[in-house]
Amino acid sequence: MSTEHAVEDELQALIASEGPIPISRFMAMANAAYYSYHDPFGAAGDFITAPEVSQMFGELIGLVLADCWRQAGNPDVAYVELGPGRGTLAVDALRSMALVNLEPPVHFVETSPFLRDYQAEMVPGAHWHDSTATLPTDVPLMIIANEFFDAMPVEQYVKTMMGWRELMVRHDDIDGFATVPGQIPCEDKIPIELRDAHTASVYEQSAPSRRLMRNLARRLAAQGGVLIVIDYGYFDRHAGDTLQAVHAHAYADPFVRPGRSDLTAHVDFSALKRSAQSIRGIKVRGPFDQGDWLVAIGIDLRADQLTRANPGRAAELAAARMRLIHPDQMGTLFKVMGVSGRGWPAVPGL
Ligand code: SAH
Repeated sequence: MSTEHAVEDELQALIASEGPIPISRFMAMANAAYYSYHDPFGAAGDFITAPEVSQMFGELIGLVLADCWRQAGNPDVAYVELGPGRGTLAVDALRSMALVNLEPPVHFVETSPFLRDYQAEMVPGAHWHDSTATLPTDVPLMIIANEFFDAMPVEQYVKTMMGWRELMVRHDDIDGFATVPGQIPCEDKIPIELRDAHTASVYEQSAPSRRLMRNLARRLAAQGGVLIVIDYGYFDRHAGDTLQAVHAHAYADPFVRPGRSDLTAHVDFSALKRSAQSIRGIKVRGPFDQGDWLVAIGIDLRADQLTRANPGRAAELAAARMRLIHPDQMGTLFKVMGVSGRGWPAVPGL
């Protein structure tokens, strides 16, 4: 298992032998190490995600999936989660799905051995996968990806005096890890409207995310099912460099102490949407703002119910609701996109 220190040594050795490496490779290795050895969530960790804010988040997602399943005619299905973290969302969603007797087998795509152990305690009987390639092929898939695509590696390109170059990561003992433009011209990777951008402009994209989205859409087209992607990101603009590192609830330098902080980038929803739509028979809805979506699918009703049942928790529930939907908190930065396969309805609320 790669720990924080081991991955720093591995990256140094790799760069010493091969020369500068693409940012995407640095990000993939740093994140694999980061997630492999500890629990990053919660007050004592590095960050908090929506399912950790409140049970309402997973419960409402479970109800939405149950609604899709009923509209699709109650078929045998599998529940799939990409990067389930502590398993909290799955537990909350499965509990609300069970209310309508929807109790599907659970499949987790998770690479971290540490988090797999955690998830096994939360959801006994789940099945684990290293990638989506081994997910069941014989039933429709109801797939959730919450804060998963933001951890996928991104490539970055910079406009230099000599044209567009991929940004690479170098290392020396004085500066540590630092970025440097690569040697090879790469205009062909840059959207036409950005090719004449001014010097030092950065274009970022995630080829692994687009590939994954196409693969999932192919599955949904062939097998049926729905995919809900929830993440922070943007839709209709080129955002430049959005790579960021978070450690202990504060921003850190992505190139200092790889493996110690969570590396993420804003998700380019327009690229994901195009990837899904490139597959025949796929319907895509959204992205919508998370806050609007949660209101549309009933967060106010659920907050009222929980408050009536637990009057002592009224302030906590009100704060959690605000955190999930308010524009100054997670409400507009986070987006929701629904992808539906053949014979399946659009995701409710989108
Ligand atoms: N969905 C959870 C966790 C988000 S953190 C929540 O909302 O709380 C990202 C999750 O994705 C972690 O479980 C991490 O181990 C997993 N992960 C990151 N990169 C991965 C990859 N390439 N393949 C599979 N899982 C990955």
